[in-house]
Parts: sequence; C-alpha cells; structure tokens
Amino acid sequence: MANASRGTHFVAIIGGATAGAEVAAQLADRGARVAVFEQNPRPFGKIEDGLPRWHVALRKKEYATISEKLARPGIEFVPNTQVGRDVDFLELVREWGFSAVVLANGAWRDRPLPIEGADDYVGKGLIYQNPFVIWFNHANEKSYDGPVFEPLDDAMVVGGGLASIDVAKVLMLWTVGEKLRERGIDEDMVEMELKGIPRTLAKHDLKFEDLGLAGCTIFYRRRVEDMPVTEIPEGATPERAEKARKARDKLLNKAMGKYCFRFVPLSAPDGLIVEGGRLVGLRFRRTRIEGRRVIPLDETFERRGSCVISSIGSIPLPMPGVPTKGELFDFADWELGRLADFPTVFAAGNIVTGKGNIVASRKHATQVSEAMAAAYLGLDDGAEGREALADAVSARAAEAAAAVAAGVVDLPALEDEAVERVLARVRERQAAVGYDSDLAAWIAKVTPADFE
Ligand SMILES: Cc1cc2nc3c(=O)[nH]c(=O)nc-3n(C[C@H](O)[C@H](O)[C@H](O)COP(=O)(O)OP(=O)(O)OC[C@H]3O[C@@H](n4cnc5c(N)ncnc54)[C@H](O)[C@@H]3O)c2cc1C
Repeated sequence: MANASRGTHFVAIIGGATAGAEVAAQLADRGARVAVFEQNPRPFGKIEDGLPRWHVALRKKEYATISEKLARPGIEFVPNTQVGRDVDFLELVREWGFSAVVLANGAWRDRPLPIEGADDYVGKGLIYQNPFVIWFNHANEKSYDGPVFEPLDDAMVVGGGLASIDVAKVLMLWTVGEKLRERGIDEDMVEMELKGIPRTLAKHDLKFEDLGLAGCTIFYRRRVEDMPVTEIPEGATPERAEKARKARDKLLNKAMGKYCFRFVPLSAPDGLIVEGGRLVGLRFRRTRIEGRRVIPLDETFERRGSCVISSIGSIPLPMPGVPTKGELFDFADWELGRLADFPTVFAAGNIVTGKGNIVASRKHATQVSEAMAAAYLGLDDGAEGREALADAVSARAAEAAAAVAAGVVDLPALEDEAVERVLARVRERQAAVGYDSDLAAWIAKVTPADFE
C-alpha cells in the first residue's frame, strides 16, 4: 500500500475505540497512514462507558489492546475532536484529501421509548440506559461531572437484550449493597457480581427477602426464548434453533437467580402514568408472537415503579452530512458500511450493527454463543470464560476491520505531496488540542488516578 508507484493510502477514522483502533492497526500494518479522530480524551468508547465496570479484567485488557494498536507507527491520534462539531464530515471526506474515511463512531443514542411524549419525562422518572451506565462506570471518580443517577429499588426496566440485564444487575447490586451498608456490612460490588447476591447474603446469614427490597423488573415485548442475548445462526436447523431458544431461557433464569431481578414477558410499553409532573409508571399492552412479529392484543395492564429505565437499544447519533434512513445510517452495503453517494467512505463496529451491543447483523461476525453470553452476564462461575471474552471482542473487531481494510486498498492512493498536505492539516488539529504525538503520555495525562 505504500510503494512508490502506487503511492500511499491516508485514511481518516472517526472513533478510536474497539473498531476504530482495529481498522487503524490493520491499515498501518499494511503501510497506510492513518489519522484517528476521537471525540473524547481517551479512545476507549463502550469498553469504558458501556461495559459495566465489574468486567475489571476485560476492560483492562481492552484498554491495553486499544492503546497498543493506536500507538503503531503511521497512526496519528487526534483526541478531543468530534466530527460533526469540531471537524465537518463533508469537509473531511471531500476537502482534507484523505484516500478514505472510516466511520467507527459506534451507537451512542438510546432508541427512544416508543410512547408519545415519553421524552418529556427524562430526568423526571425516565432514565435512558446509555447515560445511566456511563454514570455507573464513573461513579467512584472524583472528577466525574456528567449526569448523576440514584439506583432506586423497585425500578422498571424496559428492554430484553444483554444491556437491559446489565441495567438490572446495576440496580440490584447497588440497592443490595446499600441495604448491607445499613447493617454495617461493606461488600465489594465486584465481588458481589462474581458470587451473586444469594451467596453474598448467605455469608451474613441473610436471604434476599430479609432486606425488604422489591427488586427491579425487566419488561420485554417478546418471550424469554426470543431475547437477543445469544444469536441463532442464519440457516440454523429447527433443532439447533430450538436448542438456542432453550439456552436463552436457561441464561435468563440463571441471571434472575443470581441477581434477584424479575422479568415480565409479552408486555409492550403503551402509555405513561404521570403524577405531579413525574413519570410514576407505564401502561403495558399484552402481546402475542407470530414468527418474528409482535402482535399487540386488546388487554392492557398498569405497573408503577420508582423510575423507568429504557434499555431498548443504542443507535448512531446523527452526523451532519451522513444520510440516514429512519434511526440508522443509510448504508447501501451493510457488510462494509458503504454509503451510496460517498465512494471513499466505509464503516465498522457498532455503527453498522445499529445496535448498542455486539449482537451483530454482519454475516462474517462470530456468533454470540451461549458460553460467551454466560461469561458476559457473569453466569459461568469462573474467570476463564471472562478472559475469553476479550478474545471474542477482538476477533469480532478484527474480522470486520479486515474486510474494510481490503476495501480501502482498492481505492486510489496518494502521491507524497498530497500525503504531506493531509499530514500538515492533521498536525494542526493535534496542536490545537494540545496533543504531542506521545499516546502513552497523553493517556496517562487524561486519565484520573481513580479511573476504573
Ligand atoms: C458477549 C458480549 C456482549 C457485549 N455486549 C455489549 C453490550 O450489550 N453493550 C455494550 O455497550 N457493549 C457490549 N459489548 C462490548 C462491545 O465489545 C462493544 O460494544 C464494542 O467494543 C463497540 O466498539 P465500537 O468501536 O464499534 O464502538 P464504541 O466503543 O462505541 O466506539 C466508538 C468511538 O467513537 C467515538 N465517537 C463517537 N462519535 C464520534 C464523532 N462524531 N467524532 C469522533 N469520535 C466519535 C466514541 O467516543 C468512541 O470512542 C459486548 C461484548 C461481548 C463480548
């Protein structure tokens, strides 16, 4: 990619976390120049702000992997630079002179709770999953200055995927921890997640019922066996599909036993219950499942709770200049994330799956197996499975990145002078944000001592 006759590829990557760092490393290893534009000071994305902080080893390993990949020769890191705010997307694609641009900016917007007027109650009884988990992951940092939440008992979680189980676990571990502290017992949250709530309480001769907690409840519009916590491979035999559905049932029951939350299937949010200007509950409509379709029935019921946490998926934040279709980017080719009118643009990672988790729609992506989901949810009673998760995260990112890198190679490369012009512009931006090309020193500088 860098020989004299063909010139050099210079690729801009938007987002420097799992997907962005992997694409950057693969391109750099093949001789391309790369500039990674990252909106945050640290390039850790959902590993820092989406993966709950009890995944201590997995997070540390991924931080190290991302840092190592972005430090490779040929990669320019450009922190504190949001494309769409600090740098215009169309300018980046058409004027900066890059040979290709890769969108690896993930999915950071919560899919809106589908009830008219619901968003009027954000902060007044309604909470969305993304800011809630960001707060939870930074709750112990003195310098954290984002929105703060109080996990309350008897919360209602609307969801059904892995992320909604994460939210339920946060609520349960937090509220149980508080009840124990009231009794003078200080249990480490990470330890409690590993052992589970009943085993932790048993050490103190307590049962969950002794704590006086109602626990939180997940409301899901489909059945337990439809939960997208594991994938059913395309073209699976009826027997294999049935086995996968049974595995979902087993996983959920194990999670409910270990973390003491409740689950109500076949219930779609249908209306708001508002009192004194606050959201105090929801009306649900019973549903029936026909194949993949959710059929709303006539029956409705109401449930009240301390708050509603909506965890129904993460979607990309709109970026001015990138065409959208509904709530997703309008990719003409979802495999490589190609946009019809931008022949030099590609995409990789969560942004192409259109989901906040790695239950991906890509054909080539590794399936989320029962074992992987069990390890992710803390249900495999051992560190081994959890360690293997890091490999799974990397393997998925690597597969997608290889396909994108191959696509980039097919585009025309740049002459040396053009490379220098792009580099000068990149360096100008790095100087403006005070970045001096030493990634390790920069990360050390922008990471608080109490960062987890
Ligand atoms: C079994 C399993 C289940 C998992 N489930 C989940 C899950 O449910 N939820 C979850 O969150 N993770 C989950 N993970 C972790 C998963 O690996 C991450 O979601 C994945 O790493 C996403 O990587 P990404 O790079 O595509 O996106 P992100 O990590 O979101 O990275 C995007 C980066 O782009 C940056 N960015 C965004 N917009 C801009 C912009 N305009 N300009 C510049 N920079 C920008 C962001 O700051 C961020 O650093 C799971 C992992 C496993 C193994």
